This record gives sequence, structure tokens and C-alpha cells, in this order.
Amino acid sequence: MDLRDFGTTGLRVSPIALGTVKFGRTAGLKLPKPFQLPSDAEAASLLALAADLGINLIDTAPAYGTSEERLGALLKGQRDKWLICSKAGEEFDAASGQSHYVFSREHITLSVERSLKRLGTDRLDIVLIHSNGDDLDGIDRFGALDTLERLKAQGKIRATGMSTKTIEGGLRALAASDCVMVTHNLAYQDELPVIDAAATSGKGVLIKKPLASGHAVSQSDDPVAESFRMILGHRGVSSLVVGTIDPHHLAQNVEAASRALNA
Ligand code: NAP
Repeated sequence: MDLRDFGTTGLRVSPIALGTVKFGRTAGLKLPKPFQLPSDAEAASLLALAADLGINLIDTAPAYGTSEERLGALLKGQRDKWLICSKAGEEFDAASGQSHYVFSREHITLSVERSLKRLGTDRLDIVLIHSNGDDLDGIDRFGALDTLERLKAQGKIRATGMSTKTIEGGLRALAASDCVMVTHNLAYQDELPVIDAAATSGKGVLIKKPLASGHAVSQSDDPVAESFRMILGHRGVSSLVVGTIDPHHLAQNVEAASRALNA
């Protein structure tokens, strides 16, 4: 897969990224089936396969349980091969299975410092504010994107953005940062105006839940291919973050993306 410009950040991303929520967390997810966390050997082999298939972007978050810590160990000695996207603002408690959200400058700064430590690196390529659903609260009341910009100025972050849940929030995030992460799939396309605006303004767009968190269905017998054709058909989309711990699905996803891009 050819790398693509991530807006005007200077970063070049693969059209498929590896989502790693299933590396570190099993509770409180809206996935179709229960699953077990992959072993270190399974996770290492999935990362090696992803690299072989041309994937260069990994998506993680403090809210994904042990995902960041595990990636820190797994990526030792190969940090420069990857772009890492993490987030700040959502704190997940594994014991209760509940999340809470903190967008203060102090917390976002501490969260980014903690991600750097857990991931064993001195810079994060992309950091997104992890929305609680009230996107404007984090942006306007707490200035969370301004905090990320300060961290970018210190060289700890290369690109800033927000994983949003509303059109207003997505548009505001585009005006105040480098990129957005939005949900877009066969079943939900409400935030298309945000992707349109990003295309016009030259900002990066990451798609979360491209397979509707594993619930993707379509009229065709190949919902993966149909999903990727639809999503990658939009010129504003930079990369689809697909969460998988199945090497066959990973290979199938890359093949479907390549076919969609070369159609
Ligand atoms: P998704 O990527 O739409 O779907 C993931 C589910 O689809 C997994 O259960 C996976 O199971 C299955 N799957 C993957 N490829 C498949 C294939 N070829 N055939 C059949 N099933 C397949 O949804 P998601 O994991 O909710 O979202 C993707 C990523 O976006 C996450 O990993 C995370 O990094 C990010 N995300 C961010 C936010 C946010 O608020 N910022 C929220 C949700 C997600 P297998 O493991 O069995 O393949």
C-alpha cells in the first residue's frame, strides 16, 4: 500500500492503520463477540505482519487498558518503523469497566507524559483528545486542543487532533488542530460534513469503527470490501483504523483496501 499525506502535517500514513484496543482491554466494548487478549507472541507476530503488509500507523490510547504498555515493550528496537497515534482525556478503570473524562491542562499534559513513558518513546506522532460526546466542552471550556498545541511546540507531539462525535465538534477541531478521527461506516455516515471540510482545508482524517465495530453488514456478500470502497472513495479520508487481532482479517483488510484504491 502506498503511503498518503496526512493532511499538511508532513506525516505519511498507510491507508489502513492497526487499531489496538483489543491488545489491552476486553471490558466495556461494543464488539459482537467476547475475546481474549492476544499473547505477547501473538501480538508481536500481528505487528510483524502489519509491517510486512505496508501498515505504518498504530492507534492506541490510555483508555485501551494495557495497550500502550504492551506496545512499548513490543515496539522496542523498531520505534522508527512506526507512526504512533495515542489519545488523552479518557481514563478507563478496568476494575469497574467504566470510563471518566478529564480535559484540564494539567491532566492532558500528565497523560501525554505517561503515554511517552509507557510507549518507551520521546515523541508521539499523533495525539487526539478522546471525546466524551460533548466535543465542544473539551475544546472550548478546557482548551484541550490548545494544551496539545503547547506539547507540540515542545516537540513531544508531531500532530494534534481530536476523536470527535459531533459535526460541530469535528469542524471546531479541524479549525484548531491538524486532524480529526471520526466514525464513518456503512451504517453511520452522519459526520460526513466533517470529512468534506477536512478535504477542503487539507487536514488529516482517521476513520474509527470502519467496520461498525465488527457489525458491518451490507447487501453484498463482502461487507469488508464494500465498507472500504465506500470509505476510501472519499478524498478526505487519510487512513482507516481497523481493530483486529486476527492475522487473516488483517491480511484481508489490506487486500480489500488495495483493491478499493486501485479500482
Ligand atoms: P472496527 O475496526 O470497525 O471493527 C473491529 C472488529 O471487527 C473487531 O472485533 C474485529 O475482530 C472485526 N474485524 C476486523 N477485520 C475484520 C474482517 N476482515 N472480517 C471480519 N471481522 C473483522 O471497530 P473498532 O475496533 O471499534 O474501531 C477500530 C479502532 O478505532 C479501534 O481499535 C481503536 O483503535 C479506534 N477507536 C477509537 C475510538 C475513539 O473514541 N477514539 C472509539 C472506537 C475505536 P477480529 O479481531 O476477530 O478481526
